[in-house]
Amino acid sequence: MLKTIALTPLLALLSLGSAALTTSCTPLGKKTHPGSETAIVGGAPTALPTSTGTKDSYNRVSTSLPFIALTFDDGPHPTHTPRLLDLLKARNVKATFYVVATNAKRYPEIMRRMVAEGHEIGNHTVNHPNLAKMSADGVRNELRACHDAIVSATGVAPRTMRPPYGAITAAQKSWIRQEFGYPTILWSVDPEDWKKPGPGVVASRLVSGASPGCILLAHDIHAGTIDAMPSTVDQLLGRGFRFVTVTQLLAMETPGDARR
Ligand SMILES: [Zn+2]
Repeated sequence: MLKTIALTPLLALLSLGSAALTTSCTPLGKKTHPGSETAIVGGAPTALPTSTGTKDSYNRVSTSLPFIALTFDDGPHPTHTPRLLDLLKARNVKATFYVVATNAKRYPEIMRRMVAEGHEIGNHTVNHPNLAKMSADGVRNELRACHDAIVSATGVAPRTMRPPYGAITAAQKSWIRQEFGYPTILWSVDPEDWKKPGPGVVASRLVSGASPGCILLAHDIHAGTIDAMPSTVDQLLGRGFRFVTVTQLLAMETPGDARR
């Protein structure tokens, strides 16, 4: 399927990434320089453009380019998350972590490692409630406190949010976007890894569900999910997919092609 994708726009995009290296989207003020992103294995160049998009909500991005976002919810976990970071680093794959503030406060050193290694962190609330059933003030407090916990641990503000259970109303998406600037990030592939179906099943669901612009959901608090990742990532790389963070993926949305 991916053989049909023309290389020209991909190369144009990659050179755009180089051209945009002087922008300030690199975390913690770390500067990279044109030509420094040569050791690309599983990722696109780390200084690709980023965006929070134009829509209130995304479960995928419209693009014909073979870029996908791998996302992990509910961590950080004291042992599973570092093991995941090790295997992502070995493959130069960048992911996005939707953390809950209770864990972010408990493991700030893991949070800082995520940022230092080029991953992105998003807001997944403090107490993991069903936001759709909460008052505006209740939702506001959950998001604000998680936002502040992420900034306090890493110095980098989250730019997207994911509602626990994917539960959120259209009205909430709209005011959260206006008030926090966050698009709501859902997913297009759910392997139901939290039901612990076994690493082989998790991997095959993620690999078979992947398509250009997709957002893969997983949880870095389950050992079986981490066990599934070497195979998942290696198979997806073998099929020609490249991993980017959520805001990098949003920057790739084809103009005029966005489904509203
Ligand atoms: Zn969650």
